[in-house]
Amino acid sequence: MLTLPQNSPITDGAAACLHRLRARIAAAATAAGRTEQSITVVAVSKGHGTAAIQALAQLGVEHFGESYLQEALAKMDALAGLELNWHFIGRLQANKTRGVAERFAWAHGVDRLRIAERLAAQRPHRAPPLNVCLQVQLAADADRGGIPAAQLPALAASVAVLPRLRLRGLMCMLPEGLSTAAQRAQFESVHALLLELNRGGAQLDTLSMGMSGDFEAAIAAGATLVRIGTALFGSRNAQPGP
Ligand SMILES: *Cc1c(COP(=O)(O)O)cnc(C)c1O
Repeated sequence: MLTLPQNSPITDGAAACLHRLRARIAAAATAAGRTEQSITVVAVSKGHGTAAIQALAQLGVEHFGESYLQEALAKMDALAGLELNWHFIGRLQANKTRGVAERFAWAHGVDRLRIAERLAAQRPHRAPPLNVCLQVQLAADADRGGIPAAQLPALAASVAVLPRLRLRGLMCMLPEGLSTAAQRAQFESVHALLLELNRGGAQLDTLSMGMSGDFEAAIAAGATLVRIGTALFGSRNAQPGP
């Protein structure tokens, strides 16, 4: 695998984007009385090639998110020399669970017990537990998948006892075009669900919420992991495919 030169345009561009993003995260964290270190950045690299991933990895980014299994596996193979944590953030269909169970560190879009059971059965014994976030359905946007809040406690209880998985928390995805106040209210409702589960005995430590267009509101509402694509890599449409 090639090492990118320190001053290539791609490395300089990535460094500038990362610097700007970190400054915004730090400001949002400070405004919320939190530390920047309490927020993990997952760089969402779907639609972008391996050189862009490598550039961010060389700048210290350790977490990368992908939504499409075949695209992700090709990049993992190409970047096998790097120690990266891969997050599957797409909707999980039953026929994709094996690849996710075998190759990823995290799965964020779990919203059905059947999918979690397949992940547990297919997670290799030699691998550490697969970190799982349950996707919560938001009232404002039922199309994006997720479990309705009323069914969440039962699903969480069932997933928590599956072998080879570690239930870490909740994930959500907001529709575009909400006001900042509306974004924050939605994120706070998901945070409240997590606190409720923990009061019931769960031990969840992860709120996976916030994308390029709404991560500041998510951080204000307690996000511990933000999934950032466009603000780090630029527009996906402008890029050649992987
Ligand atoms: C694409 C995607 C992101 C990143 O979106 P940006 O708006 O580009 O930051 C985050 N989460 C999920 C689930 C996604 O599919």
